[in-house]
Amino acid sequence: MYDLAKIRADFPILSRQVNGKPLVYLDNGASAQKPQVVIDAVTRGYAEEYANVHRGLHYLSNLATEKYESTRGTIARFLNAASEEEIVFTTGTTEGINLVSYAWAAPRLQPGDEIVLSVMEHHANIVPWHFLRERQGVVLKWVEVDGNGDLDPQAVIDAIGPRTKLVAVTQMSNVLGTVVDVAAICRGAREKGVPVLVDGSQSSVHMPVDVQAIGCDFYAITGHKLYGPSGSGAIWISRERQAEMRPFLGGGDMIREVTRDTVTWNDPPMKFEAGTPGIVQQIGLGVALDYLMGLGMANIAAHERSLRDYARDRLQGLNWLNVQGNSAGKGAIFSFTMQGAAHAHDISTILDKRGIAVRAGTHCAMPLMTHLGITASCRASFGLYNTVEEVDVLVSALELAHELFA
Ligand code: PLP
Repeated sequence: MYDLAKIRADFPILSRQVNGKPLVYLDNGASAQKPQVVIDAVTRGYAEEYANVHRGLHYLSNLATEKYESTRGTIARFLNAASEEEIVFTTGTTEGINLVSYAWAAPRLQPGDEIVLSVMEHHANIVPWHFLRERQGVVLKWVEVDGNGDLDPQAVIDAIGPRTKLVAVTQMSNVLGTVVDVAAICRGAREKGVPVLVDGSQSSVHMPVDVQAIGCDFYAITGHKLYGPSGSGAIWISRERQAEMRPFLGGGDMIREVTRDTVTWNDPPMKFEAGTPGIVQQIGLGVALDYLMGLGMANIAAHERSLRDYARDRLQGLNWLNVQGNSAGKGAIFSFTMQGAAHAHDISTILDKRGIAVRAGTHCAMPLMTHLGITASCRASFGLYNTVEEVDVLVSALELAHELFA
């Protein structure tokens, strides 16, 4: 049973007030709050178990290494990876995608080669590819979304041409909540011999993920959205692609041997991890993923589906609110603008006065904003601890904002 009251009690911040009102935290798409078990793991990591990893022969170093490395196995289980060697630690999705851009794509792509993207990508899955466009003449091919915000997998597959070297798509839009059938994209891309990178930043938080069933080549996640510490994360990279990759950053840990004239690389995944990592952050991420798996990703998804349905009904009842995207299978993420010219920032300020945290702006998705014909929106993004009562609080506050601006 999904015991929401008990789950909420696991997150200490949810009992605080903001501006004299109970906090209604609807900014989960940006970053999620942390359960006490994660806070405790981080505190314990520094207070009792801290030392650098991998290099020491002393007790604390071995303890920290064991805990840090055990997160690799936890991530592998969370993503159903075939092996934990396919898990490369990163500071988050942004670093993971940049890693692929530098270490896999840059050495391989020639001027005129193409990368296929959807128009609803986050900047983290756009700008690393722009670097290749600027530096080496790679062409970015954009696939549109339809009026509901859906991305047709066949349109992505059809965009793959003879010069396409990579497809890079999100599994869930951070603005519209649209869920993309990335498995269908991977099937079509594989037939054409083109690897697929999936941005799992949003989707991995809200649904069970199985990288083997998806059939992708790269799958990036970010810890702070997964109720873990900021600065934690990973990218799953298939063995086949790892074998094609150069190292990313150079430094300690990623080498086997260094002389004055030569250097040889460590085996993956260490080959792609240089320097002292976010030790305690990754340990905290392991605890967060265990927490999520304890609740059950399918249970979390079911709870959030009911929140989505309730919120969709209530928001659709506000005929002066323009909600962007209405994909049937979307996640519980709602972006909207208000008729009457209230700017998204003004709406968010009014909501903040009522204790409600939402995000306002372009959501790091400017090409999508242009596609939608808007300059900014407000976004309410729900998480595993949100309630239907909080949807009601949001709707009342929006009604108040509308009265003020009408
Ligand atoms: N991709 C998507 C879809 C996102 O929503 C985000 C974060 O908002 C990112 C990538 C970047 O994640 P991070 O900033 O944690 O690296």
